[in-house]
Amino acid sequence: VASVTRLRSDYLLTLVDEPEVIEDGMVEVEDGRVVWSGPAASAPRSDVAAEQVSGLLMPGMVDTHAHSPMVLLRGAGEGLPVDRWLTDVMWPREGRLTPDDVRCAMTLGAAELLTGGVTTSHEMYFHTDAVVDAVESSGIRAVVTPPILIGDDLAAFGPWQEQLAGIGEAADRHGGSRRVSIGIGPHSAYALPEETLVAVADLARERGLHVHIHLAEGQREGDAVTRRTGLSVPAYLSSLGLLEGRSVLAHGVWLTPPDIDLLSGHDTGVAHCPMSNGKHASGIAPVGDLRGAGVPVAIATDGPSSHDRLDLFEEMRAAIHMARLRAGDAAAMRPADAIAMVTREAGTVLGRPDLGTLGPGSRADIVRIDTGGFVPLVEPGDVVTHLVYSGTPGLVRDVWVEGERVVADGAPTRVDLAGARREATRRARRLAEVS
Ligand SMILES: [Zn+2]
Repeated sequence: VASVTRLRSDYLLTLVDEPEVIEDGMVEVEDGRVVWSGPAASAPRSDVAAEQVSGLLMPGMVDTHAHSPMVLLRGAGEGLPVDRWLTDVMWPREGRLTPDDVRCAMTLGAAELLTGGVTTSHEMYFHTDAVVDAVESSGIRAVVTPPILIGDDLAAFGPWQEQLAGIGEAADRHGGSRRVSIGIGPHSAYALPEETLVAVADLARERGLHVHIHLAEGQREGDAVTRRTGLSVPAYLSSLGLLEGRSVLAHGVWLTPPDIDLLSGHDTGVAHCPMSNGKHASGIAPVGDLRGAGVPVAIATDGPSSHDRLDLFEEMRAAIHMARLRAGDAAAMRPADAIAMVTREAGTVLGRPDLGTLGPGSRADIVRIDTGGFVPLVEPGDVVTHLVYSGTPGLVRDVWVEGERVVADGAPTRVDLAGARREATRRARRLAEVS
């Protein structure tokens, strides 16, 4: 007999369509997948008793742009714009990372994400096997896109040809995993030569892998590309074949109307990182224009040294504030939009309709939120409003990934959090000793 788990809760958000709160909801899980969800009163008959839980059940959130192992660099390089922050502070330290550093850091990052209600992260970071090890052992799910990045400080990671070959091998090695899938993470058009970007497009096409790239984060980052080619960065990437398959563009702040028009014709989505963009003074992304043109946009954290938290509740509020300030319109982004952009729409951005919803066939990645402080609840829709404006990681009580409980009563079940924090501090101090 296949094991079935039935969870019954005060409130349920399936996110299958528009965010609509079901009172007295039920989710039925079998073999890591949701098989049924809806009002408990109309649940199919079963011999299995439902586990009654309080609060809200919702899909695990999906963080579409993260470098979670950068918990080791949190707090470093304060007060710098993105370009100097990368070249002067991040890359010199990252060039000295060992696989054990990354395993430790990804473990801590995964624990922070999970306890904050994030069940999938889209990771771009060095030492792929260490990232994957930490994902599998912590119990989170990840779409892992090893970076292609070259520079004097990053010589330890080898030439780009080697990095690219390593991604094809990683896709072979981890293809059977239920929690991990692989894509390609060319850092950006400004940090890589054209022949590299062309080779990335070739590998993506040959292997059917998606591309995860930084794009239009800073105002001037595309100037060199435009001077050389006469094209905007999106048009340049398109001309090289990089937008032919699925692509995820991180930031997308400095996009013109023709850029947005171009993106709307491709299988591309944008990972909007409002807190990172605010911290680095990068700018305010045209989220309303993108979504209006049919480009899916997810809300993401970016790395925890440009934010510095892995907290999608905080990001939702920042996204709403920025959208409304940019538009001068107090209705520019609704709470229902924000919650969709960390769940269902984030799954769309990744090309993963099995993530970010709790409909039949979805992955059983489920979060339970304590709604005791959501006062007043006058009508069911207030749950969404309070979740977005008053939600915090501290309200996340239980988390299931692939049907397995990986956070219980607010604590990770598979990670020794205090130990991971101690070890991360020790490793971070070593990396900070600039030679
Ligand atoms: Zn990034």
